[in-house]
Amino acid sequence: MDKITRRQFNERLSKGIAGTALLSSAPLACAMAGPKKREGSLGIALVGLGSYSTYQLAPALQQTKYCHLAGIVTGTRAKEKIWAERYGMPGRNIYNYENFDAIADNNEIDIVYVVLPNSMHAEFSIRAAQAGKHVICEKPMAISVAECEAIIEACRKAGVKLGIGYRLHSEPYTQEVKRFVKEGTFGKTLYVNAEAAYRSAGNPDQWRLNRALSGGGALMNMGVYSIQSAIYATGENPVKVTAQEFSTRPDYFKDTDETITAQFQFPGGATGTVFTSHNTHANSLYASCSGGWFSLKPANTYGPLAGESANGPIQFPHESQQKLQMDDFARHVLYGSVNKAPGEMGKRDMIIIEAIYRSIAEGNRPIPLELGKMGLS
Ligand code: NAD
Repeated sequence: MDKITRRQFNERLSKGIAGTALLSSAPLACAMAGPKKREGSLGIALVGLGSYSTYQLAPALQQTKYCHLAGIVTGTRAKEKIWAERYGMPGRNIYNYENFDAIADNNEIDIVYVVLPNSMHAEFSIRAAQAGKHVICEKPMAISVAECEAIIEACRKAGVKLGIGYRLHSEPYTQEVKRFVKEGTFGKTLYVNAEAAYRSAGNPDQWRLNRALSGGGALMNMGVYSIQSAIYATGENPVKVTAQEFSTRPDYFKDTDETITAQFQFPGGATGTVFTSHNTHANSLYASCSGGWFSLKPANTYGPLAGESANGPIQFPHESQQKLQMDDFARHVLYGSVNKAPGEMGKRDMIIIEAIYRSIAEGNRPIPLELGKMGLS
């Protein structure tokens, strides 16, 4: 094994055969002067150093076992110095949006995690894939189904893994709800109510209120959580969606949706109501089943979450959800374990989001969906 290309390295890593032999091979070690690649731990580069990277992902990466913070990509010069000092990051692992593609030659970085405004997810996920890096793309996956498909295709073509930043699929309360549904603990889900909302009152020029950057308002930002909750509480994808939009602060929400409600019809007969808003706080999941019920409240904050069911309280020790999520993805890359939030799941949610917007645009008419089992896990 005199020479190994980045692509071959990724392929081997994906198959779980890179292992110690490859990581300690002489040619690769020479290419990585400076801090050594940690054995059994993948290097992650965060793209976009806003609040989620700063206060959640980077701290979580100090606790992860199968991956670590190896690099950053930022458009702000001042942050380069701050992050380099805070995390002891060498200059060779610091990129900006222009020279980002040179990351292809950096063997210390295995995964690129895109944490930018939604409209930039597709461009940077595709560039990361083309650089031969595995990709984690934040939610919502992009701002259209077409962009989601382009990301999936770029990753497929490059032979790299793709995960969406749906942290809840790695945390225990959500796992427990999924287990209830899978095992029929309370029978069949007949009704689900899912809420995900917070009151936005800050800078009116923030990107989340700018459609060109966000792709939409509450639905794009928080709505994905209530859509996800409704799906894992029934174990099915909706076959029909009807939606309504409400606006009470049009001066503030000039460009994006403030509050949306939607009704889902599921193939097994269950119905669901989904609520999302940037005007008020709400965070819960409730499912009524043929033989009982279960609920989470809060259902999608950073935790600790809390839950109850017809059998009593649901209780798990709290751990960083982001730590669990990134370790899950790293294990998927390293050892081929299940990808808990694949690209198809992000695309499925974007199809539902587009159907909700379409229902609203077309006078609240029901929109049929043909998702089959897409993105179910
Ligand atoms: P933020 O506003 O705090 O940070 C955005 C970052 O993007 C900043 O560093 C900013 O400098 C950079 N940026 C680059 N180009 C920009 C532009 N044209 N306009 C504005 N900013 C630009 O946002 P955030 O809260 O960190 O969110 C980033 C992404 O992460 C979003 O997609 C969001 O949905 C997602 N997110 C996910 C979770 C989760 O729980 N999974 C939580 C928060 C945010």
